[in-house]
Amino acid sequence: AAKAAGSQLMVYRAELDERADAAVRLGADLRHSLDDGDFRVVYQPIVELSSGRIEAVEALVRWHHPVRGPVSPADFVPIAEDNGLIVELGEFVMRTACRRFATWRRELGADAPRYVSVNVSARQLREPGFPDVVAGILAECGLEPAALLVEVTETALFGGGTAVHAVETLHRAGVLIALDDFGTGHSSLGLLRTVPVNVLKVDKSFVDEITAGGGRAVIVDALIHVSKGLGLRAVAEGVESAGQAVYLREIGYEYAQGFYFGRPVTEPDFVPLATTFA
Ligand code: C2E
Ligand code: CA
Ligand code: CA
Ligand code: CA
Repeated sequence: AAKAAGSQLMVYRAELDERADAAVRLGADLRHSLDDGDFRVVYQPIVELSSGRIEAVEALVRWHHPVRGPVSPADFVPIAEDNGLIVELGEFVMRTACRRFATWRRELGADAPRYVSVNVSARQLREPGFPDVVAGILAECGLEPAALLVEVTETALFGGGTAVHAVETLHRAGVLIALDDFGTGHSSLGLLRTVPVNVLKVDKSFVDEITAGGGRAVIVDALIHVSKGLGLRAVAEGVESAGQAVYLREIGYEYAQGFYFGRPVTEPDFVPLATTFA
């Protein structure tokens, strides 16, 4: 039995090595793809539940790998964080999204969404001068700071330090801050006391608890009270059905995002005006 366990361990080791190799290869491909322009930004609406109006758009990166085709950000963002390329990739996403948003504003005027939401990783936040990079992009696009919302995860802020300092600097400059995947971290509520935040993005896993039958979903219920009590906005993530959207509106959510309202799409497909939900 000991021998069998030993050889299983070897197999497991080999698999781990293979996975590490694959990550290194993918990391090298990221570098080439950044130079070759294989990255795109797609946009997903964030909807005001009372009207169906598109309040904001979230920018999400897409990679079309020259050989493998589309690779999910869930697979390559962690690799780009490890090898540092997320700094350059993240700046590309932010610049692309801000330019696009400025164009929508010119085209749609008062009907345009109020802000564009961009995901920022811990590694970017810890980069000295990150707030200056953001200020530079905003100036270049002719946008005021409140036209941009930066989405950070709780884990990125865990342990305080430079990342929290960068968030404070951005917030002071007027850039909006959201805690992404809210409720999934280790100290979600504690963070709200130490980090300046405007928006809570309530994680999809809690929205999933809203059953088709409309049974109570304890955590989404609780989080709308937390957010209102603290004077924050809540956005419910990952809404996939009309039933979930109606439930969220009934318990007081004003904003939501998810496939039910619209999938992330490339900009030529997207005029961010309104959905049919109201
Ligand atoms: P996230 O920031 O929590 O983004 C939401 C993810 O959920 C997106 O996946 C979106 O396509 C997906 N989603 C939205 N609505 C629904 C829904 O109703 N149902 C389901 N099943 N999924 C939904 P995506 O684009 O694959 O991104 C995955 C994660 O990768 C993001 O999670 C974010 O953490 C990261 N990411 C994406 N783009 C960027 C980026 O530009 N920079 C950084 N640092 N991270 C990014
Ligand atoms: Ca996000
Ligand atoms: Ca999220
Ligand atoms: Ca997520």
